[in-house]
Amino acid sequence: MELRIRNLSKTYANGVVALDKVSLTIPTGMFGLLGPNGAGKSTLMRTLATLQECDSGSVFLGDIDVLDEKDEVRKILGYLPQDFGVYPKVTAYELLDHFAVLKGISHRARRREVVDGLLQQTNLFEVRHQRLGGFSGGMKQRFGIAQALLGDPQLIIVDEPTAGLDPMERVRFHNLLSDISAEKTVLLSTHIVSDVADLCSNMAIINKGKVLLCGEPQQLVFDIDGKIWARFVSKQELPIFQKNHAVISTRLLAGRTLIHVYADEDPGDGFEDIAGDLEDVYFATITGRNTSALAGAVC
Ligand code: ADP
Repeated sequence: MELRIRNLSKTYANGVVALDKVSLTIPTGMFGLLGPNGAGKSTLMRTLATLQECDSGSVFLGDIDVLDEKDEVRKILGYLPQDFGVYPKVTAYELLDHFAVLKGISHRARRREVVDGLLQQTNLFEVRHQRLGGFSGGMKQRFGIAQALLGDPQLIIVDEPTAGLDPMERVRFHNLLSDISAEKTVLLSTHIVSDVADLCSNMAIINKGKVLLCGEPQQLVFDIDGKIWARFVSKQELPIFQKNHAVISTRLLAGRTLIHVYADEDPGDGFEDIAGDLEDVYFATITGRNTSALAGAVC
């Protein structure tokens, strides 16, 4: 089911413009919404999840008017919020069963089937009678996905789901999301570039409430081919390079400072042409260097 967002805007009472004419077309599969903290991702997620009002714009999920027909949307929506809390003293089975009742699955045997199935799908069946308070971060997030999948939703929204997970848990969580997205629309909001690189067939970069770039990750990486240059610099040299070149990122590598620069041609000064990756696309876009982004994102 396709999600179409057109010119969505939201300004908070304190004057912060959280969404500034956001337009996106989100097809079936996994879509990554990538942006730094404060970009407006959660505001967008909450608006799509019918939990918050926007000021203007339109959103359609298939034929459903998301901003108007909230009850219809809620029937086919699953949402894992950023701050998903669990009741620590209740077991995974009990809480999921409770959510299933709230979701309207009133028939007892049917509910048991659904709850067992979801616990199996999220690899929590073995621990279903343990209290949620004892769950690891990864287990809690998988439980969050289990509750988001109740009622067989067509659109699943997950807000910053991998923050705080250790590498093993992240891989496991990625696999779970990837399985789900085979036939559903999954919207994943994150500030972690590798989440999008690993999982998403389509993506957008958002900052300060504006969509800066969108497309298929592979294509976006292809578009910066030949434009990313790298070299090591000393700490003392760094400010000079930052002044003279379009530096998009600096990072420590084995104790030395590696800088990446965006330039259409060889910038000189000993830089080497390297194969850019999605991180380079991201930093080049956020720093305003990516010329394909400046052309204006038609999404
Ligand atoms: P993200 O999820 O990308 O971190 P948010 O949507 O949470 O971004 O926030 C976007 C901007 O809106 C930020 O500047 C944030 O401080 C501001 N903001 C978020 N919620 C509120 C609110 N309830 N009232 C005022 N400002 C808010």
